Amino acid sequence: MLKIGCHLSTSKGYEHMGKEILSLGGNTFQFFTRNPRGGQAKAIVPKDVDAFLELAKNNGIDVILAHAPYTLNACSADESTRNFAKETMADDLIRMEYTPGNLYNFHPGSHVKQGAEAGIKYIADMLNEVIKPEQTTKVLLETMAGKGTEIGRSFEELRAIIDKVELDSHIGVCLDTCHVYDAGYDIVNNLDGVLEEFDRVIGLERLCAIHMNDSKNPFESHKDRHEKIGEGSIGFDAMVRIINHAKLRNLPFFLETPNEPEGYAREIAMLKSAYIEQ
Ligand code: FE
Ligand code: FE
Ligand code: ZN
Repeated sequence: MLKIGCHLSTSKGYEHMGKEILSLGGNTFQFFTRNPRGGQAKAIVPKDVDAFLELAKNNGIDVILAHAPYTLNACSADESTRNFAKETMADDLIRMEYTPGNLYNFHPGSHVKQGAEAGIKYIADMLNEVIKPEQTTKVLLETMAGKGTEIGRSFEELRAIIDKVELDSHIGVCLDTCHVYDAGYDIVNNLDGVLEEFDRVIGLERLCAIHMNDSKNPFESHKDRHEKIGEGSIGFDAMVRIINHAKLRNLPFFLETPNEPEGYAREIAMLKSAYIEQ
């Protein structure tokens, strides 16, 4: 069965998110661990988590994906900004253990003027401090569009981070379709070739999740503006090939398209009906 869901608001807790995704026709979801702009996270309510875990077990929600605030910048030149990213991520990873065995995604960050190499080192340094051997959460680096000085614009940059992480069995990758297309990986005309390159550079065993977004901008634009499924430069047919690809079809897919709940329900239904059961 296709594992498909979308980004949901965290404000009403885990059980509410679980019920919401089921009502939208999905079986997995993404959520921010705290306000996307950072700041204090809401306290975990153990009763809420227990109710969610029960709901998940009974309804085939096998995996969920937490997203770090997108304002974190682990590779800032500014030490206090780096420390803030590190403290936030360390706290998020403690919180993640209330729902063991799931995924935590973050944007590697922007190196600004120091260069990619310095940025990559800072990101790996942070991961080496926050990742604990006993954690059950997989930490995912997201593929980025490469706007400004974003790290993660190429598979090589992600590989360079992973190479510097000691406990690298806890590290995976989340591939964002809009971002990689904007970055210059042609998943429309050469999906096999892109996946071969991913395998050669990073290793497909690291690929743990897919962000399913169409793009408002053309190939290689380095822009990062998500579009509704089938309404952007990637198009519906390419999306259908992605969810059905032998190397991808068992991964969880998360919509981050500009939609209200009804729009998400529609896109989930579209992709479910285009998925070929085997
Ligand atoms: Fe993201
Ligand atoms: Fe994304
Ligand atoms: Zn994006």
